[in-house]
This record gives sequence, structure tokens and C-alpha cells, in this order.
Amino acid sequence: MLTVNAIAAPSATEPLVRATIERRDLGPRDVLIEIRYAGICHSDIHTVRGEWGVQSYPLTVGHEIVGRVAEVGAEVSRHAVGDRVGVGCMVNSCRDCENCKAGHEQYCTNGNTGTYASVDRDGTITQGGYSTHIVVDEDFVLRVPETIPYEKAAPLLCAGITTYSPLVNWNAGPGRKVAVVGMGGLGHMAVKIAAAMGAEVTVLSQTLGKKDDGLAFGGGDYYATSDAATFEALKNTFDLIVNTVSAPIDMAAYLGLLRLDGTLVSVGAPPEPLTVPVFALFGNRRSFAGSGIGSIAETQEMLDFCAERGIAPEVEVIGADEVNDAYERVLRSDVRYRFVIDVDTLR
Ligand SMILES: [Zn+2]
Ligand SMILES: [Zn+2]
Repeated sequence: MLTVNAIAAPSATEPLVRATIERRDLGPRDVLIEIRYAGICHSDIHTVRGEWGVQSYPLTVGHEIVGRVAEVGAEVSRHAVGDRVGVGCMVNSCRDCENCKAGHEQYCTNGNTGTYASVDRDGTITQGGYSTHIVVDEDFVLRVPETIPYEKAAPLLCAGITTYSPLVNWNAGPGRKVAVVGMGGLGHMAVKIAAAMGAEVTVLSQTLGKKDDGLAFGGGDYYATSDAATFEALKNTFDLIVNTVSAPIDMAAYLGLLRLDGTLVSVGAPPEPLTVPVFALFGNRRSFAGSGIGSIAETQEMLDFCAERGIAPEVEVIGADEVNDAYERVLRSDVRYRFVIDVDTLR
């Protein structure tokens, strides 16, 4: 066992504190990663606060992880000591079910192993990236291209792939009109990626407060959803709407913005069910869909795509002792656009 420095939640209601956690001994197919940066995802906050189910504490979260390979097991062939690597939202899967065999391990029918708060193969609870080191099976470790700055690479591992995957699956590209709902951590990446894919991108945000950013990130148009005229002006317009908002939305109003065979795909997860009026689907033969992260192969493809196109998230780097304040700011949407923890401040 390796005992390493970390930031942990002692319970659902207490602030995070500095702590130590254990990492397993390196197995033959394991990679030991010295973590450099870890992004703060809204899911981290939901999880530590017990909003997505009861957790076992102390708990270390974080699933936007980048660093360097410090050591490899005897059978590791995909990564070498010194490589720049990343880890996203999952660290294993059954590898045997229909979806795993088809390369969609994020949809493992036996449940993929989450990077934190999941039961690992050895029965322990996985602990995430707010720590100095992590041990991960080599198949779930990504190569991070040299041209993406370390701190900017971290949010690609969740926010990047969560938006890239539906954009690929629903064919965002030249001649396709894509709307992105919400301009937060996920939304700003959806705008950059969809624009880089060649789609015509419209941002739908509550207010026009981030309009300059939205246009700079590649948006062609920017509308306020607090203005009812927006829904009139954009009726029957989009091939694809990517909804990154994790609060309930007026589904009839948003579905009405889809043209023939258009799809509204949700990647933000409101705790309450959404109400979908079926008549809004009949018109224009519309679809409502969901999408969860992406496969490992697709995550690698996304990292390489972002490196080639020179796209990266906008980040605010913080130290280990600023994480509790950062959580409050995330909850107030007061971040442009992702907090990233400098893990050197934990050493
Ligand atoms: Zn996340
Ligand atoms: Zn599986």
C-alpha cells in the first residue's frame, strides 16, 4: 500500500480537509500516476454531499485527473514512466458484457467502476483525483498530448468527453445547426468542440452575461433563455440541442426549437424527473435523448482532436486550501469556466 496526501470529505455535511488515503500496490497491469492537476466537476459536489446517494466516508473525489506516469506494472505495454497521462470518470469495467465488448465500456451493463465512490474489483471504495497519486489499470489511462497545457487538459477528462461524445454521435458538423444550453463547465466546452467540428453553433444561456465569451469560443449566435422572444425566434431551427443544465427546463419550449428529426440530448442531470409533453415530440418527429461520458477510445480521440484543433477549457487554478470556497463558487455559477486544483499544493 502507498499512503498519499489527499483532500477528503469527512462526511456529507462537513468541509473538505487535508487527509491521507491508501493506494493499492501496483498490479502487473497497473500504472502509478503522479497527479499534477485535478479539475472540480459539479458531480464531485453532488457526490460528497450525498445528493446522489449515501456514500462511505472519508471520501476523496475528482475525476478530471492529469499527471505523469511514475511507475508501471510488469505487464504494462501502453504507457511508460514519464508519459503525460490522464484519468477520467471510470477506472474499470467488466470487459465481458455486450457493451464492453463493443467498446462502449461507459455503458457496461454490469456497471463501470467509477473513479471515486465506486466499489473496486478488490471490494474497496475507489478514491478520486484530489490527491498526489493514483493507481489505475493501464487500459483506463489516457495519453495527454504535449501541446495541451497540463492544467487545461484536466477538465477535458469529464467536461470535454461528456460533450464530445453526443456531438459525434448526433453528427455535429458542417451544415448542422447545434444549440448548446448553458454556458458553464460543460457548456463552454460544447461550444468550442461543436464549432471546431464545423457546426453552426448557437448558445442558449439564461442571460447575455457571457455573450462575448460565447462568441469568442465559436458561437455564431447567442440568445437569452430568460427572454420569451428567443423561443419564438428560434422555433424549428436546430438539428441538435445539447442541454448541459442540471436544473429542470421547460421541455416543450426547448423541443419546439428542433427542426425535422432533431434531437435534444441531455448531459446535465437534474435531481428531479423532467416532464416531456409527447405532442412536442410528434411535431417534426423529434427525439429526446441522454448521453453519459464516453468510451476510453472516444476519450483518446477527443484529446487528440482538441490538441490538433488547439481547443482547451478555460480554467482557474486554485490551491488545495481553496477547494471549499471553490465549491461555493461553482454552486453560484461564479467560475469561468472550470476550477482546477494544483496538486503540487498537496505535496
Ligand atoms: Zn464530472
Ligand atoms: Zn461490461
